[in-house]
Amino acid sequence: MSSAATTHRGRLPRRWLQAHGLAPHLLGCLLLVGVGAGISKLMAVSEFLWIPYGILLAYLLLAPRRLWPAYLAAGLLGRLLGAAVAHVPWQSNLVETSFDLLEAVLAAFWLRRRSAQLPNFMQYAYLKRFFAIAVLAVPLVTSLLHALVESLWLHLPFLLNFLSWAGSDSLGVCLATPAVVAIFRGRRSFLRESRQAWKTMLLLAASSVVILSQAKAPLHFLIYPLLILVFLRLGIGWAAMATVFVAIAGGWYTGHGEGPFFAASAHSLLSPTVVLQIFAASAMLMLYAIAMVLENHRSTERNLQKIASLHRLVMENSRDVILVADFEGNRSFVSGAKDGWSGWGDEELKGKRTLDMVHPEDRPGLTALIEALRNGQNDALAEYRIAKPDESYVWVEASLRTIRDPATGAPKSILNSMREITERKLAEQKLAEAYRAVEELAVTDALTGLANRRHFDQYLTTEWRRGMREHTPLSLVIIDADLFKSFNDTYGHLRGDNCLKQIAEAIQDVVSRPGDLVARFGGEEFAVVLPNTDSSGAFQVAQDICAAMRDRQLPHSGNPSGVVTISAGCATLVPQLGQHAPSLIDCADQALYEAKNKGRNRACAFRSAESGSPAIEIDREPAARRFA
Ligand code: GH3
Ligand code: MG
Ligand code: MG
Repeated sequence: MSSAATTHRGRLPRRWLQAHGLAPHLLGCLLLVGVGAGISKLMAVSEFLWIPYGILLAYLLLAPRRLWPAYLAAGLLGRLLGAAVAHVPWQSNLVETSFDLLEAVLAAFWLRRRSAQLPNFMQYAYLKRFFAIAVLAVPLVTSLLHALVESLWLHLPFLLNFLSWAGSDSLGVCLATPAVVAIFRGRRSFLRESRQAWKTMLLLAASSVVILSQAKAPLHFLIYPLLILVFLRLGIGWAAMATVFVAIAGGWYTGHGEGPFFAASAHSLLSPTVVLQIFAASAMLMLYAIAMVLENHRSTERNLQKIASLHRLVMENSRDVILVADFEGNRSFVSGAKDGWSGWGDEELKGKRTLDMVHPEDRPGLTALIEALRNGQNDALAEYRIAKPDESYVWVEASLRTIRDPATGAPKSILNSMREITERKLAEQKLAEAYRAVEELAVTDALTGLANRRHFDQYLTTEWRRGMREHTPLSLVIIDADLFKSFNDTYGHLRGDNCLKQIAEAIQDVVSRPGDLVARFGGEEFAVVLPNTDSSGAFQVAQDICAAMRDRQLPHSGNPSGVVTISAGCATLVPQLGQHAPSLIDCADQALYEAKNKGRNRACAFRSAESGSPAIEIDREPAARRFA
């Protein structure tokens, strides 16, 4: 068969359907209801199995509500014609048809009252409503009314009529509705399946006929596994149809005094048709139960698949590598950008411990973190270098999280989410280097604006060399705030810093010669380099600085003077070969020490032993000033 012919054949009914719209559906409804009614009556199974109500209900459940009148009309016509063909008296036909229609409308309204939800017989909630409404409540109510009308009008026995109508309708609806819904909801797959289904259905039909036509070997229980086979291979629609077939065949043989149900009823309290009803209803219940379990299973599977594909999508598109490994480093999961930034493939990673891939310098830190996680810590952040296959390293930022045993809560493994940060790390390194370089270039102290210690050291060395070259004296004054710790304690560090700025200003007020350098020596100590200045000049400067600070009258309750005072030590040397600049600092420091010892708030000068002068000249400010 050519493919063109197949396509043509496949398209034709669809085109016809599209062109004719509703008509073929209505015709289908008419025929199905008519055939259902006719066969049930002709085969005399209508007493225990009545399917037209179930068929019509299926149409109403699937169709938009505005089309219900059309379907009801089609159903009415089909139902009347079907029963008429089976020679049902016209009065009974009319009454029964009216009640069938009433039943279908009632059940359809009630079932679709709250929502426009389409029937789903694989879903527990829908199935529960379907049973309560369409299988139990509606058949009971309409059977009651129907039996009442027939007993009054046609003088038929009420109870028998009621029981047989209710039983056959309940069984019919629970068999026919799912079958018809399955056919129409999955029409395309149903047509496709029907080409493969005939073998299974033939097997079931043949087996059912063999089993149900004789009573010598009561093997009717074998029908259940056969129905399950139909269900598993072809779905609930085909299984419901197969059950309808089994019930009709069983009814036919039982009606003719044959088969296992008729034989069993000889010793039973129940009539053979009731036994057959129970048999068919049990089969359908069993199929519904399996359908529900299966649907549950499938929906869990679908959800899992959804989660898994979402998970895969995230993993494959993430810039992070996510890995799970136990505390010995054995990986159970690796994902994500491993083929991207790290360069490692799945195969290459096998047998490699993560820790062995970490840069040796970073290993101790990471090992300590892993140990902390093993000992109960929940998470940690780490930055380390990890080897690439070409033996170069990339920087990664790792977020580590302990995975615990759900039962015991004991740390079991580590979830490690790694992100490549080489570029950021290089930028950070460059920034740090630039900061260091700027710091090295800086020559001023941030707080006071004076020269900083580095600048002071360089300047002193330069001037020392110049003094040596030119044989000129070099003087140094070192100044220290008096009782400054107590100032801080009393007034706080912020006011302390402010006071240091004032001291710096006082010093700068005195030191004005070009070439002099005022520097912050450290903490609350200052230094003044006075090139080409002799000892008397330096001592003068030191005394003036002490006086300038006193004159500022900055309150200091911890100082006996009541104001902030400073002590100064000065020294003068003509730099000699073999000596070094720090010796001048040493001498000035000794003089400062002396000034502190003598009671602070004064200047002292250092004198070398060779000069014949006393070692220390003291300024006993403010009473009398003695100059060097
Ligand atoms: P002394 O008269 O013997 O020098 O007494 P002192 O309390 O000043 O003693 P010392 O020189 O040992 O104390 C230094 C104190 O100076 C310690 C600290 O509280 C303070 N200090 C050092 N640097 C700073 C600074 O930058 N700001 C402030 N606010 N305080 C500083
Ligand atoms: Mg000090
Ligand atoms: Mg001090």
